[in-house]
Amino acid sequence: MTPVDQALDALHTYFGYDSFRLGQDRVVDAILTGHDSLAVMPTGAGKSICYQVPATVLPGVTIVISPLVSLMRDQVDALDDAGIAAAFVNSTQSTEEQRAVISQAAQGSLRLLYVAPERLSAPSFRGLCEHLQISMIAVDEAHCVSQWGQDFRPSYLDIGGFIEGFVRRPIVAAFTATATEQVRADIVRMLNLHDPVMTVTGFDRPNLFLDVIRLSTKQKSEWISRYVHEHADDSGIVYCATRKETDAVAQELRREGVTAAAFHAGLQPEERARAQRAFVNDEVQVVAATNAFGMGIDKSNVRFVIHHNMPESIEAYYQEAGRAGRDGEPARCTLLWNESDIVTRRRLLDMGNANDRLSAEESEFVRSHRRRLLGAMIGYCRTADCLHEYILRYFGEQGGDTAINDSAVSVGGVDDTEKNTGNIGNASDGITASGNPSQVETAVNDAPTGCGNCSNCLGTVKSVDVTDIARMVSRCVHDVGQNFGAGMLVRVLRGSQSQDVLKRGLDRCPSYGKLRDTSEAVIRDVINQMSVDDYLLITEGRLPLVKFGNLAVRTVAPDFRYAITSVIRKGDAPGSSVLGASDDGHGQRRTRSGAGASTNGGGQNVTLDPADEEMFQDLRELRTQIAREIGKPPYIVFSDKTLRDMAQRRPLDEESMLEVNGVGEHKLELYGQRFIEVIASAED
Ligand code: ADP
Repeated sequence: MTPVDQALDALHTYFGYDSFRLGQDRVVDAILTGHDSLAVMPTGAGKSICYQVPATVLPGVTIVISPLVSLMRDQVDALDDAGIAAAFVNSTQSTEEQRAVISQAAQGSLRLLYVAPERLSAPSFRGLCEHLQISMIAVDEAHCVSQWGQDFRPSYLDIGGFIEGFVRRPIVAAFTATATEQVRADIVRMLNLHDPVMTVTGFDRPNLFLDVIRLSTKQKSEWISRYVHEHADDSGIVYCATRKETDAVAQELRREGVTAAAFHAGLQPEERARAQRAFVNDEVQVVAATNAFGMGIDKSNVRFVIHHNMPESIEAYYQEAGRAGRDGEPARCTLLWNESDIVTRRRLLDMGNANDRLSAEESEFVRSHRRRLLGAMIGYCRTADCLHEYILRYFGEQGGDTAINDSAVSVGGVDDTEKNTGNIGNASDGITASGNPSQVETAVNDAPTGCGNCSNCLGTVKSVDVTDIARMVSRCVHDVGQNFGAGMLVRVLRGSQSQDVLKRGLDRCPSYGKLRDTSEAVIRDVINQMSVDDYLLITEGRLPLVKFGNLAVRTVAPDFRYAITSVIRKGDAPGSSVLGASDDGHGQRRTRSGAGASTNGGGQNVTLDPADEEMFQDLRELRTQIAREIGKPPYIVFSDKTLRDMAQRRPLDEESMLEVNGVGEHKLELYGQRFIEVIASAED
């Protein structure tokens, strides 16, 4: 049998899967033919299998370097359940315990040994490694070695030296979900990968329904409560920007009878561990968390991830959102945002997080890089294009080369392929502008198009002519000498009598009061959009000023036309104000009480017929019971996907049980009979 055949055999025996997924086969093949490897795959693509399966085929032990202690425990638990001998060494163990684990490995009774990067530089650990036959070193979350990403961990810098220290260098396989060119190059360099086989799999996650909703802060909480109630059987994560928000969201949910926990770095380690365990064990339905939560979570049946605020980059967003639906079943990723999220993000970015290893110049370089990342994130919130496509384009899968292309992502917000703004000359041709944009909206597209699996493709794109508003904004920027922020422009345009306007004499500007009848939200919208389109430039810093952009002069041309395009979510009443809908949330409320595209559309349509659904629930109950007995998370026993397949196939003997996706021989031995009994009793 060739090593690759052996690997297929192991995949089936231990994990109960019939075939490798796209990309996994390439990585496994590279490893088994003695090549270093760098695999870039999105969360949920199945990176672990890529090194776990070869580890069962290669002689000796595979060392897995993994950043988080909790993740190690889950992985080792899962491997144990699959019948693969694995253990971990980390700081929670005494030296004696560590020695015991290493001697197990030295006797050749372990296939995988998980270690935290901090261990690698400890001379005692190095010494112990000398007694081991190490065939492979797998570096999980390898992007932590790069200072370009937000997950940089100084201890990852020790990995390169650790590898070089071996007389017989093991094969090195690095894994990450972060795709940017810079990060990839850093991984190859810092880990000193030898001529690695690169595998970059598709970044699309077709089982994820992508959803963006612009809501005020108060409406965000209402939306979340409602969603969670409507999906009471589903496990989910609500990501928040601050610790305070996680507490508030968790508290609000608990008040309404939902089991919810908060998770953030400010909690005591025991509290954090408790919240994490409770979630993983399905004892709490929802965790409201900061981005500190997740890297240590391997729960495959997370059915929804809601972002209460806009994250700092598409990478961060996709990684967090990607924690939904790792089992391949439909799941939903909703991003709730509003303008104040942008302000907060910009402020955080400018305050910067000091990195002692960087000079002032390098720090500024990193900061401007992060501004570009944020710009692309803002673009995602604003785009009316297919959200799946936006993400793929960002990661360079369509139309681009690879990864982030600096010229394609502007600080202002959108990449140059985005078509959601200012598309004058087609959509809004012939529209007569008026001061009230809601009266002049034009449907650009009423038919559902595109992927059909994101809110933009299900919604209706509307274009609103805002030429007069844009002209007047431009005029006002001129009037105030490009010396003020958006807030002051709004006050001047709306004819505010506030002291800061009057004492500066701005009430004498020609544009003063010219947009008296236009709401602040609409003016702000237009200002923001004009900055995205380069008519205006909003400076960075704590007090951003609105200045003219490169195209400002065009706003005074007689044929200047300007429109804002946005999406009316499916279920919104036709004719509702585009701008109003996004700002006052009425569209959202209508949707929620209506057919329900906003909280039900996409993502949740797992189609089991009622009898199978009942069976699925019975099997789930047994799974929970077994998980309690063995003290492991339920998804380690069997994934939701496996239970669904089982509910449909209803195997009544061991042979047919082995045909269920995700039932390997060891698990069959451990739990098969009990599941067969439940199925048999239901069939009676
Ligand atoms: P990642 O580390 O890339 O986020 P995981 O390794 O956690 O992803 O895998 C995600 C899910 O996909 C797990 O439930 C895993 O068992 C499942 N999986 C991985 N490979 C396969 C395969 N070849 N066939 C079926 N399911 C798979």
